[in-house]
Amino acid sequence: MPRIETLAARAGSAPDPRSGALSPPLQLATTFEHTPDAQLPHGYLYQRYDNPTQHDTEAALAALDGAARTLLFPTGMAAGATALQSLPRGSHVLLCDDSYFSFRVLARQQFPRWGLEHDVVDFTDLDAVRAALRPQTALLWAETPSNPLLKVSDIAALAEIAHAGGARLLVDGTFAPPVLQQPLALGADVVLHSATKYLGGHGDVMGGVLSFREDDAHAAACHGLRLLGGATASPFAAWMILRGVRTLAARMAWHCRNARVVAEFLEGHARVAKVHFPGLASHPQHAVAARQMRDYGGMLSLEVAGGRDAALAVAGRLRLFTNATSLGSTESLVEHRASVEGPASTTPPGLLRLSVGLEHADDLVADLARALGAG
Ligand SMILES: *Cc1c(COP(=O)(O)O)cnc(C)c1O
Repeated sequence: MPRIETLAARAGSAPDPRSGALSPPLQLATTFEHTPDAQLPHGYLYQRYDNPTQHDTEAALAALDGAARTLLFPTGMAAGATALQSLPRGSHVLLCDDSYFSFRVLARQQFPRWGLEHDVVDFTDLDAVRAALRPQTALLWAETPSNPLLKVSDIAALAEIAHAGGARLLVDGTFAPPVLQQPLALGADVVLHSATKYLGGHGDVMGGVLSFREDDAHAAACHGLRLLGGATASPFAAWMILRGVRTLAARMAWHCRNARVVAEFLEGHARVAKVHFPGLASHPQHAVAARQMRDYGGMLSLEVAGGRDAALAVAGRLRLFTNATSLGSTESLVEHRASVEGPASTTPPGLLRLSVGLEHADDLVADLARALGAG
């Protein structure tokens, strides 16, 4: 089996049979010739059902995730909503308490309509997870590392708990793409990625991924819902994501290296009350992270001493870190999450989330030193 770097650079690629081109063709056709009785000589009928470029990207992502089946979606939220809507009516879902904010809003707003119930639990507390399981629990929804507190939950232990209770485990692995973490190999049933982040990697394409350990009934239900619900990735987006994946391993190595330098600088700074980065020995789940991740990623958050006002002042003084949402792109970003999340936010008011980009680490540290020091 080729190593993960080799899979990222090459999986699913072969010279185009028509031209010999090494770069994959971008097939924009909406419709494909079929026989009079609707047999599909090439396997394709209509772009919304499936399309060759989406297929190429799914093949590469399946290899990276070690998945039996991978489905691409137009956004990470579309992928997540599909995984949830495909659960049987009456199902109970356990969401980790630091899951991506929009999923918690989705659960509150849409679950009653979909016939789903949910509870929110701290997934770093395995006893609390066990205690929250119900006979109807169909899915444990983990996110590790989590957004924005960088909590790390034990994927293998959660898989065991889920399976013992007759439930499935989904891991949102957006912060740790496949070159850093392999949830399916650790026992998870489904892994979700927002391809908008590290997989695309350049802040210019949106996408979502569901990769399934087995090509099972849940995978089939998600595929069926995508086909009829219409959440198919556009060929152009699929093509852009595959282009991003080709450099994933190299980019992640640099993101991880830069984030470590930034985290270590911040940890020693007098105006920083707390740094959340799984690569630091001080991180409460550092041991779990060391066991299940190859490296710790490019995301971290800090709590500025002095709370909300101090944090906003620091964010306002940063120059190289741009105040913007999203993550995983080439440029470094900062975001005061409590402001973006609004009144329902549970994020500490002094917290700033950093997406550490591909600049030189010394320039990033200098920007932070100036912004923190001037207060
Ligand atoms: C961004 C994000 C999502 C949602 O993905 P979109 O592509 O924005 O729809 C889901 N989970 C995590 C952890 C994210 O960071």
